[in-house]
Amino acid sequence: MYDIKCDTHTHTFYSRHAYSTIQENVRAAADVGMELLASTDHFSAMLWTDPENLKNYQYLAVAPSTWPREWMGVTLLCGCEADIVSLNGDLFGQDIAVSENIVGDSFNHSSTLYDYITRKMDYVIASVHGKAFANGASRTEMTDMYIKALEHEKVFILGHVGRSGLDVDFKAIATAAKDMNKLLEVNEHSFGFNGVQDDVTHDRCRDILLACAEVGCKISLATDAHISTIIGKFEKSKSLLEEVHFPEELIAGLNRETFLRALKEAGIKDLT
Ligand SMILES: [Zn+2]
Ligand SMILES: [Zn+2]
Repeated sequence: MYDIKCDTHTHTFYSRHAYSTIQENVRAAADVGMELLASTDHFSAMLWTDPENLKNYQYLAVAPSTWPREWMGVTLLCGCEADIVSLNGDLFGQDIAVSENIVGDSFNHSSTLYDYITRKMDYVIASVHGKAFANGASRTEMTDMYIKALEHEKVFILGHVGRSGLDVDFKAIATAAKDMNKLLEVNEHSFGFNGVQDDVTHDRCRDILLACAEVGCKISLATDAHISTIIGKFEKSKSLLEEVHFPEELIAGLNRETFLRALKEAGIKDLT
């Protein structure tokens, strides 16, 4: 049985449709024996009607310089889950300019909302939520979209590719991820999500795992918890790993050491 010690994609109540505080999530991670927890609230137009307003995202901007790195024996990483918003792999906030801070003072250098929010973060997860921009796109275009999203400097993980339902070439994405030392995610929250049958998700996630094993691409496991009670609980994902005999050395989130080493190898941050 795989013994996974890192939950690398979770949400606090700052995601607006999630319900726990960061302290409740860290407590829950400690209680189930996690060595590492990454908190990755949504960075997305789904949160606010005026996404241009920096005030709405100040909790994300300040978290990296506020949270302790070690808390209740858990290593706490600070990131976000940014929406992929175009077939070019652009991420939410990259086309939004910010020139003033939250009290109205001008910045010395103007920035994009994306750069301002993510600059101090440990990493970014890139995920597809709203899919309207991909309507009518070809398989190649959607495959390239994921690869381009992964190419952004701070992006370490492609979130829940299994759940998106987009018809993409898993092997091409896994090959690109391996070349960049970045990760594909197996997301526990995808099973039974929004009425999508478990077997549909199961088959897609299995195909992703087979592609990763074939090309040597590393993965992360995540609960995508929107409440603290499910932090660190990956039963369906783990049984899928067992079903395909997934090689343990390709599980970046196996423990704190393996995950931090993978983050370093991706050239994103050295916390080893
Ligand atoms: Zn969410
Ligand atoms: Zn999420």
